[in-house]
Amino acid sequence: MGPGPGNPYPEVMQALTRPVLGHLDPEFVALLDETCERLRQVFRTGNRLTVPLSGTGSAGMEAAFVNVVGPGDVVVIGVNGVFGERMCDVASRCGAEVVRVEEAWGKPIEPERLLGAHPSPKVIAVVHAETSTGVRNDIAPLGEGKGEALLLVDCVTSLGGIPVEADGWGVDIAYSGTQKCLGVPPGLAPITLSARAEERFVERSPSWYLDLRMIAAYAAVPGGTARTYHHTAPISMVYALHAGLGVLLEEGLDAVHERHRVCGEALHTGLEKLGLELLVAPSHRLPELTTVRVPAGVDEAGIRKALLERYGIEIGGGLGPLAGQIWRIGLMGHTARLRNVATLLGALEELLRP
Ligand SMILES: *Cc1c(COP(=O)(O)O)cnc(C)c1O
Repeated sequence: MGPGPGNPYPEVMQALTRPVLGHLDPEFVALLDETCERLRQVFRTGNRLTVPLSGTGSAGMEAAFVNVVGPGDVVVIGVNGVFGERMCDVASRCGAEVVRVEEAWGKPIEPERLLGAHPSPKVIAVVHAETSTGVRNDIAPLGEGKGEALLLVDCVTSLGGIPVEADGWGVDIAYSGTQKCLGVPPGLAPITLSARAEERFVERSPSWYLDLRMIAAYAAVPGGTARTYHHTAPISMVYALHAGLGVLLEEGLDAVHERHRVCGEALHTGLEKLGLELLVAPSHRLPELTTVRVPAGVDEAGIRKALLERYGIEIGGGLGPLAGQIWRIGLMGHTARLRNVATLLGALEELLRP
């Protein structure tokens, strides 16, 4: 919520105004190393290959697939929203044999169905927090049952909002984006890969830009080769991510998750008090992205327009089969504050009053 895409933390805005250094300047590469270390803390992983990729969350998705999936590889993908569907598109462009496990939009995918979809997939892929529906898909049981498969998880809307335990859950590949719960402008895709994933890289990634072997060499990941130029890092964005992660870790990861949980709960309770119906069952609701059904007879787009113009609050509409049927309300990163919840509930009450 908040006007436009949101007002990031002042520390982040200040970081964006720092003098621009060269991409191999010792001061910059020290800051890049520290950013990778902060990302390890936020993903809760010891993976050496943990870096911010140049590009938005979708670049993370693409890198995740093009480095491990080659022609004919079997990839099981959970599809219960826009981003699971996008994974199928990306995997099929790599030549994968895609096995889709579909669920209704608004419902979580049962882990047993993903685990039982194929006897020996190379990859099992799922979206942790489906931003198009407000559903949280369970990850831990997939790590327990994955067998030889690599577990690939989209954490774009979960990282920094709800617990993500890359190592604890046995996740082999996880990626995120800066502009969701990390509270930084769009432009980088944090990604982390386990040693198992590195061992099973395709011989030669069809993408030059997203080749993680070359990116690992540029980031000079621990135990790798000396730092080698690959592409010019977006210096100012790395500053911004470094600062945003600093704010997050200073508040404490657990405290940040708790703040999202409390705000989400207040929003869910408040919406139900207004007589509105939530799309997702309580057990799998995301605190950072709430989906609510538009009541019959209400002008869906008109309410969103009025919220933005009169109150400076931007919410989303439904996508795909849910277009026109739901509103999507974000409480991500710096916007997950009780005062934002109160403002939105007050505004909605006023606008929905007959
Ligand atoms: C936003 C989002 C993406 C895509 O990220 P971009 O930054 O828009 O490229 C991928 N997956 C999920 C779950 C998302 O919410």
